[in-house]
Amino acid sequence: MTEPKHDVVIIGAGIFGMATAYHLLKNDTNLKVLVVDKAASAGAGNTAQSAAMYRDTFSSEVNLVLSSTTRDFFRYVQNELGVNLSLKDITSLVNG
Ligand SMILES: Cc1cc2nc3c(=O)[nH]c(=O)nc-3n(C[C@H](O)[C@H](O)[C@H](O)COP(=O)(O)OP(=O)(O)OC[C@H]3O[C@@H](n4cnc5c(N)ncnc54)[C@H](O)[C@@H]3O)c2cc1C
Repeated sequence: MTEPKHDVVIIGAGIFGMATAYHLLKNDTNLKVLVVDKAASAGAGNTAQSAAMYRDTFSSEVNLVLSSTTRDFFRYVQNELGVNLSLKDITSLVNG
């Protein structure tokens, strides 16, 4: 049997596949990660169609925690780390 060339193979180069690859490599730069996609380029599936909106109005506790902590993370990256994510907080804009 031939030796495997990669430690991890990720099927699908959408936002979840690429984020998974990013975090795996961030934790271990020696990992050999292969991302494959049936499309010609990365992010050509649902990721390309996303309106890139986020909300934190959910009825389940889990979704509320996930959405509000994600929102806070995005705000931190843009406001504290100074990385321009083109993040516009519509609620804040509406409320002044
Ligand atoms: C019109 C629209 C608007 C949206 N708006 C928002 C929004 O405003 N906010 C929000 O949070 N979410 C939104 N979403 C949802 C969001 O886009 C998806 O939840 C997210 O992009 C899913 O990412 P993913 O990586 O799981 O899937 P995908 O981006 O679809 O990636 C999956 C990848 O796997 C590949 N693939 C599939 N099968 C195979 C195979 N057998 N072999 C190899 N490759 C394969 C595909 O080509 C694709 O590139 C929207 C979705 C749509 C369709």
